[in-house]
Amino acid sequence: MKKCEILSVGTELLMGQVANTDAQYISGKLPGLGIGVYYHTVVGDNPVRVMEALNIAAGRADIIITTGGLGPTQDDLTKNVIADFIGKRLVRDENTCALIEGYFKRTGRPMTESNFRQAYFPEGAVILKNERGTAPGCLVEFLYGNEQKVIVMLPGPPGELIPMLDNEALPLLAKYSGGSRIISRYFPITEVPESKVESMLLDIIEGKSNPTAATYVKDGVVTVRATASGEDEAAVNQMLDGVASKVRERFGDDLISDRGEDLKTVFLKLCVEHGLKVAAAESLTAGLIPYLITSVPGASAALTGSFVTYSNDAKMQLCGVKAETLELCGAVSRETCREMLEGTSRAFSAQLALATTGNAGPGVMENKPAGLVYVGAKLFDRIEICECHFRGGRENVRMRSAMKALDLGRRLMLEYFRV
Ligand code: ATP
Ligand code: MG
Repeated sequence: MKKCEILSVGTELLMGQVANTDAQYISGKLPGLGIGVYYHTVVGDNPVRVMEALNIAAGRADIIITTGGLGPTQDDLTKNVIADFIGKRLVRDENTCALIEGYFKRTGRPMTESNFRQAYFPEGAVILKNERGTAPGCLVEFLYGNEQKVIVMLPGPPGELIPMLDNEALPLLAKYSGGSRIISRYFPITEVPESKVESMLLDIIEGKSNPTAATYVKDGVVTVRATASGEDEAAVNQMLDGVASKVRERFGDDLISDRGEDLKTVFLKLCVEHGLKVAAAESLTAGLIPYLITSVPGASAALTGSFVTYSNDAKMQLCGVKAETLELCGAVSRETCREMLEGTSRAFSAQLALATTGNAGPGVMENKPAGLVYVGAKLFDRIEICECHFRGGRENVRMRSAMKALDLGRRLMLEYFRV
């Protein structure tokens, strides 16, 4: 497998003003071409340190992709340093000169001699068009010792880098992949802590180089990533099928999807597949449940509506929660959650209802601690209510509660319709 290093040039990245989203974007694209990204490096706009970074990168990667420093100003030094590094002259490209002149004429902006700096490229470079700005990128092959390597220079602004990478650079890079394929699959899992997930998969995670597997947490969901590579796509997929069947077997209903689909997508799919109408009644999540569901295209096939019943009055008027229930048990209680489920499924004629009631924090409320939430789901006459103790700030507690509601609904559907 060819190894790539992404070398981002820009002092603003080191100082923390700008996050390195360029490297993130490029990293997301290369495995699809069969190129492995082994390192991300960031270096400031300093020629000595850029040179140092190039030396290190060329020593350990076959493909170097640089971002930033292609503009017309003095601190834009990437091309000059690279030309020095690979021992090539910078030559002027007349076609690019004409494009730059045309750009300034069209936009009526004043042009200075320094703008032509952008029209110089290392000898033999393939020029990469910039649809959104004036600084083109380029790709150039060079020898490092006896080894043939390639370096690609892309501009810093993401709006320029993304189309240049997708339309110009990736098609050229495809031929440097050496025919290998890298495929990843993602397995999001709920209710099992990350360390437990890892220990349940140690035999696939530990000491394996192909496929590799690892866990990470994104948006509060533990996800297993499995990656395999090889020349033969079918064989690569077969390795991943092996991982998928182990994950399915070991995690059962805790596994949200063996195809990387997220919770809300899987939830909606199940509702649609079984022809169910969904409604919600929400106190602390105040609309997050339909917000999540409707962010998936096609939500109208299942979602009917949702009550935001923040006050006790609203709980009584909209969901028919009894005054005595609120009096005796409190708004944050299993009993109130149950009556909210019953009320909303009745009001919307929904077979599946979800409800949340709890204290999002920060303080104690009606003697209920912050983070105490009752989350419920009702499918036909089956009801499941969970007492949850979430940590973190308000937003975290609210989002976790809404996700938990979808997850309870998902689990009820899986159980109910299991053959
Ligand atoms: P320009 O012609 O605009 O000067 P350039 O190729 O010289 O482009 P830089 O001067 O290095 O690029 O960066 C310009 C801007 O692009 C930065 O101020 C920053 O906002 C953004 N940028 C640069 N590098 C990155 C990066 N790695 N990730 C995300 N944004 C970046
Ligand atoms: Mg610049």
